[in-house]
Amino acid sequence: HIPVLCIDGPTASGKGTLAAAVAERLGYGLLDSGVLYRATALAATRAGLAISPGNEGAIADLARTLPVRFEGGSIWLGDSDVSEAIRTEEAGMNASSVSALPAVRQALVALQHGFQRLPGLVADGRDMGTVIFPAAPLKVYLTASAACRAERRYKQLISKGISANIDDLRADLEARDARDQSRAVAPLKPAQDALVLDNSLLTIDEAVSQVIAWWQE
Ligand code: C5P
Repeated sequence: HIPVLCIDGPTASGKGTLAAAVAERLGYGLLDSGVLYRATALAATRAGLAISPGNEGAIADLARTLPVRFEGGSIWLGDSDVSEAIRTEEAGMNASSVSALPAVRQALVALQHGFQRLPGLVADGRDMGTVIFPAAPLKVYLTASAACRAERRYKQLISKGISANIDDLRADLEARDARDQSRAVAPLKPAQDALVLDNSLLTIDEAVSQVIAWWQE
């Protein structure tokens, strides 16, 4: 069977960067599951569907046949390059709303399982270890203080020339985490057998080394 290494955790804890670096080091494939929720939310908005429980069935139908592709370093939704559109704060909030709809989560399960490929997969998200790959041999739960996470997101935006306010970013990410932790289905929490890594004071290299060391144990 195909080995899967899961990295879950709250918003802006550094999961994406860590997962990509670990996948690169191991020569494994990468599943950034947040992209699927972001793309679903964007597809719904573009189809004129408000993200609300009343549209759960219709949005789940979109998710089930989501024409999302990772190609040439870009993320595509059908013919449209959505690499930037899915990364805005608003897209993150919409993804969080869409991800609280149980039928949407269910509709994305098969797509996520389809990312498994030899020699292995690194999967990052909120429920990789708890729901999608419960048999994975290593589940890392990556945390960092809200202050660190807000600062990380702030620096990311500034480096892209996007202006931002650190207090607003912190309020946004705390609101998103609160929703992700309190939803009825697949709430954000560490798997019972997860190893917790606090990323507040680690460099990327230190975090990567720790995860690789756990993987090789
Ligand atoms: O990780 P990222 O910030 O891209 O995820 C966007 C949103 O998608 C999260 O706030 C969360 O609500 C949702 N999500 C999820 N389950 C995952 C990945 C993301 O519910 N496995």
